[in-house]
Amino acid sequence: MSHDLSQAGRKTQTIHAGQYPDATTGALSPPIYQSSTFAFTDCAQGAARFAGTEGGYIYTRMGNPTTARLEEAIATLEGGTGAVTTSSGMGALCAVIFGLLGSGDHVVGHSSLYGPSRMVIEADFKRFGVESTFVDTSDLDQVRAAVRPNTRLILIETPANPTIVLSDIKALAAIAEEQGAWLLVDNTFASPVNQRPLALGAHIVMHSMTKFINGHTDVVAGVVVAKDAELLAKIAHAHHYLGVNMDPHQAWLVLRGLKTLSLRMRESERNAQRVAEFLEQHPKVAWVRYPGLKSHPQHALAKAQMDGFGGLISFEVKGGLEAGARLLDHVQLMTLAVSLGGIETLIQHPGSMTHAAIPREERLEAGISDGLVRVSIGCEDVEDLLADLKQALQQV
Ligand SMILES: *Cc1c(COP(=O)(O)O)cnc(C)c1O
Repeated sequence: MSHDLSQAGRKTQTIHAGQYPDATTGALSPPIYQSSTFAFTDCAQGAARFAGTEGGYIYTRMGNPTTARLEEAIATLEGGTGAVTTSSGMGALCAVIFGLLGSGDHVVGHSSLYGPSRMVIEADFKRFGVESTFVDTSDLDQVRAAVRPNTRLILIETPANPTIVLSDIKALAAIAEEQGAWLLVDNTFASPVNQRPLALGAHIVMHSMTKFINGHTDVVAGVVVAKDAELLAKIAHAHHYLGVNMDPHQAWLVLRGLKTLSLRMRESERNAQRVAEFLEQHPKVAWVRYPGLKSHPQHALAKAQMDGFGGLISFEVKGGLEAGARLLDHVQLMTLAVSLGGIETLIQHPGSMTHAAIPREERLEAGISDGLVRVSIGCEDVEDLLADLKQALQQV
């Protein structure tokens, strides 16, 4: 175990939490324990590990020394009692719902969640009797109106995907507490460098570590962090039986990516601010949404609950879908691809891609207009990103 880093700065935590020399060899890079099972010295030890009276490892689906380091790192960054790593962000969400909810329970979710997150609740968990209502959680009155006596979970993303709308974590935690429900924050867009929901009253945080935390567009991964141990135990139990565990090699790659999270986020948001300002004054752009712009309706909330504004921008080119498609077909440096939070800039069209499975009416209601373009700004030289957008906009 490393020394206590709970009060250390963000950069220190990303570099040192879960990262310490291997006890036997001194190796600075964590060993990859690529083993499915772990030998017991005798029968009594095996029994004690299964009974939970002795620590140590049993079988990698239930825990592994390499994934444990990553769990320690993310729990430290988010300020939770512990974490469970998962094979993907969707695995993290499914472990929470499978672990905490049952037939007759109700979820209130943000209307513009990551597309598959909404779909799995609305279509799949529904088959197991989990009810759900999706509203604009940036409007607290809509949340109060949606909450029922059987509401057990409020699920938000802030900033939300792809509308970049913010929700007030502190206020929503209070509504959840009043109802005896849990607030789950999908913190993928902000990352723990910019936002720590548990400190603001949330009960559970999840990430798609595929995005900013890993940051190199080479791993799919997820994690859940809980504020209290009892809650974490319920989620870990579900995780062990669902089989959404992380592979040790995957954990090693994410541990490596995590070390530069602070640096990448700072660079990416410095670039994003410049790109957002450029788009905002461009005559062919109808609107731009970025939390760092004074024109963002929740700029004040962003300053209050975030330490930085992140790398995601959404905007619409005048002329809607057709004009947006022309822009996407003409970018040269930016890559037309889904996903986000990588070191390279990615641009995509949610209406026809990530959010296409949601009926158009519901999409429009959630603020995802037909022409909305989402861009995840990377760490390239900002002049090159601006030049690319400039030339692509000339083609529109
Ligand atoms: C990508 C993403 C997910 C799903 O994560 P996977 O790692 O792709 O399973 C969930 N929430 C948000 C906000 C995401 O961006």
